[in-house]
Amino acid sequence: MSNHVTILGSTGSIGRQSLEVIAALGMEAVALAANSSVKRMEEQARQYKPKLAVLADEKAAADLRVRLADTNVQVLGGLGGLLEAAVIPSADTAIAALVGMAGLRPTLAAIREGKRIALANKETLVCAGPLVLEEARDYGAKILPVDSEHSALFQCLEGHDRREVKRLILTCSGGPFYGKAQEELAHITVEDALRHPNWSMGAKITVDSATLMNKGLEVIEAMHLYRVPVEKISVVIHRESIIHSLVEYCDNAVLAQMGAPDMRLPIQYALTWPNRAASQAVTPLDLWNCGPLTFGSPDLDTFRCLALALEAAKTGGTAGAILNGANEGAVARFLAGEIGFLDIARKVERAMERVPVVQNPTMQDILDADQAARESVG
Ligand code: NDP
Ligand code: MG
Repeated sequence: MSNHVTILGSTGSIGRQSLEVIAALGMEAVALAANSSVKRMEEQARQYKPKLAVLADEKAAADLRVRLADTNVQVLGGLGGLLEAAVIPSADTAIAALVGMAGLRPTLAAIREGKRIALANKETLVCAGPLVLEEARDYGAKILPVDSEHSALFQCLEGHDRREVKRLILTCSGGPFYGKAQEELAHITVEDALRHPNWSMGAKITVDSATLMNKGLEVIEAMHLYRVPVEKISVVIHRESIIHSLVEYCDNAVLAQMGAPDMRLPIQYALTWPNRAASQAVTPLDLWNCGPLTFGSPDLDTFRCLALALEAAKTGGTAGAILNGANEGAVARFLAGEIGFLDIARKVERAMERVPVVQNPTMQDILDADQAARESVG
């Protein structure tokens, strides 16, 4: 079990819930890092009293330093600060909860210190899965999934022989636009896309959940984490988000992990594994009153981002980094009101057509692919 934790992305949705879990478990947050949320970081630093508080944005870090002048909290800025937070010697665990490719370098730095990694930042594995996992093996860093689907798969896989696995089945809520046709999606606004039925999350992943790109990224994440070819991973629409994912074995037994949709559960398990701890915060699952559970097939023609992600998973190499880089660029432009909802898939598809794929990539190949994909989105 972890005792001293550094949180990369502490001001975000996962970061804030992680702080709650850490406090409830009596663990200590020794470092907090984020980008530019000065006010929230000041509040967190005063409440949780870490040794180190980092904001990647240098101006915001300077402001934070003034605000925290009356405390013992050390304040750092820039990428250097983020890396310091990642490798802080007093932490045995790093929660990787930055959003996007920005999480790659800090996560790798924590891995190279052999820390336990509670991994929420799926983009890191989508872009550089094989390299990240190889480093984790080399440095003895245990990666524990925070993403609810991957935590569910992890729990259903524990204690079983991986050779007996027939298929991983990821559940997908379908997002706010489930059941809609392409034409109806053309005029989706940013506000519409930010309204998720079951989960409250950061803006980028909420848009990804609306396009179903999130599920595509999760298929690639699962492929790398559990070393299962994409052909052995299926997605099932499950509107209620009660079953978080399933594993089908060779004898056709299917194991599922269930629970109320609450990220504090997978966050806590990543911190307490291999043990479990009682939780006052997470609502127990009331099977007698939770209503029927439903299952269906995803609509790959309407939600083309999922189809594109499955294609990138099959292609391998830098295809994941191209898909992800283009998606990050396109989602940022959608959130800024510059492009429409359906343009996200169009931009990603165009980047996948234009940017050449490199197989068995080096880290530089991955960074180049990411850059080229972002440029193609404009
Ligand atoms: P948020 O947008 O809520 O938070 C992102 C965090 O990362 C913030 O602390 C933000 O700081 C920080 N950040 C963003 N960009 C940078 C940067 N360039 N440098 C340093 N810090 C940065 O995201 P979520 O918490 O929703 O998601 C985090 C990760 O977890 C994502 O990869 C997401 O896919 C994954 N995830 C999230 C789930 C959820 O329920 N939210 C579920 C499963 C996975 P600041 O506040 O200063 O901008
Ligand atoms: Mg998920």
